Amino acid sequence: MLEQIHDILDFSSFNFHPSLQESIDLAGYKKPTPIQEKAIPIILEGRDLIACAQTGTGKTAAFLLPVLNKLLQEDHKDSEVHALIMVPTRELAVQISSHLDGLTYFSSISSIAVYGGGDGGSFVREKQALSNGVDIVVATPGKLISHLNMGYVKMKELKYLILDEADRMLDMGFHDDIMRIISHLPEKRQTLLFSATMPPKILQLSKTILKDPGEISIALSKPPETIKQSAYVVYDTQKMGVIQHVLAEQPYTSVLIFCSKKQTVKQLTAQLQKKGYKAKDIHSDLDQTQREDVLLEFASKRLPILVATDILSRGIDIDQIELVINYDVPPDGEDYVHRIGRTARAETKGTAITLINPDDQFKFQRIEKLIGKTVEKAALPASLGEGPVYGQREKKEGSKKSFSSQPKGKKPSAAPIANDRKPATVASIGPRPKIAIIKKGTENNLPLSE
Ligand code: AMP
Repeated sequence: MLEQIHDILDFSSFNFHPSLQESIDLAGYKKPTPIQEKAIPIILEGRDLIACAQTGTGKTAAFLLPVLNKLLQEDHKDSEVHALIMVPTRELAVQISSHLDGLTYFSSISSIAVYGGGDGGSFVREKQALSNGVDIVVATPGKLISHLNMGYVKMKELKYLILDEADRMLDMGFHDDIMRIISHLPEKRQTLLFSATMPPKILQLSKTILKDPGEISIALSKPPETIKQSAYVVYDTQKMGVIQHVLAEQPYTSVLIFCSKKQTVKQLTAQLQKKGYKAKDIHSDLDQTQREDVLLEFASKRLPILVATDILSRGIDIDQIELVINYDVPPDGEDYVHRIGRTARAETKGTAITLINPDDQFKFQRIEKLIGKTVEKAALPASLGEGPVYGQREKKEGSKKSFSSQPKGKKPSAAPIANDRKPATVASIGPRPKIAIIKKGTENNLPLSE
């Protein structure tokens, strides 16, 4: 029933230290992603590297794994810092730090995240680690400079320097801080530069700090031109109404709706069923057989609407899905491309519609930048009332950072549909459908965790 179209390779060709291999297994990584396949051998060889890769490609493990492996195999003093990972934001520092915690679970490699905005306690902890020695430091440049200025940071024997999201660091004005930090590091070191884009200033920086680097570029796949993309700028309460409006416009026989959270998948499916649509859900709470059954039903067009988490955005190839709806905006451009790529497969035309609530607007603007295209914003049906303005954030009362997810003034109900239509027609069972499940991480990129 299920055709596996890729061989499952594993990480064994890298001969990683057993404790590292154990944590790779624990993380569930079966096969290196393209960036890992290319970057790991270069880094293991000891060469500098410049790599063009976005978030979502597995770039973090691409540098963490070989650096960890080297640290595990080399003698090194506990009283020094051996690797420094410089990142633009505290969020990325925290993210990399927790990735590191996972990958060092079975070893004694130590690490600390150093970033601004913490309390006095975190400063003391950072100071202690930086002065007593810690294997890996993940730091934002500004905060690291404050420690370096105090003179206790032990980086004279540092072996590995990694700049992650280097383009963003330069955009944020960190060039001089980076150069100052580098002036405290030994000349003889291995330097790895990762950047989502390669503007001239990055190439200039790479000439200054890298020596004879290996070069890798993992391009972001662009959505095929055959996908008609559009978006509705909505409040959360208007989403259901938009879905009903869209489904009423055309008798779609195969609709895939993506939600980022399992909970949302379940709730939306229940709402759709209540309104009479023939919809089912698929997510990680179902076992493999249940998933396969739902998939087969959907692929054979017996089930017109499937609501899914990103579990399906990368791994599945079903013919003739006519419409993909992003119930929410996916985390980044790569996910967006993968989600909407489920339609318009094999040269057919498809439609992809994204629902953007005020909280997701910034994310969607970033996606538009990444795919190099402004996605058309469709007008809301009059019955749903006014939606938010795109590109204009609205402040939620009593909150500095959040933005309203409700319409101002008159609040349309969650289901304000004038032309509540009948559920999508169920297509007759045709010939056995083609379903190809591409296993974790084998289709150019990664599966998303839910
Ligand atoms: P990144 O691009 O580094 O932000 O990674 C994106 C996601 O992919 C993270 O959740 C990683 O844990 C996951 N990941 C990294 N490498 C692999 C792999 N080889 N197989 C499956 N997932 C991976």
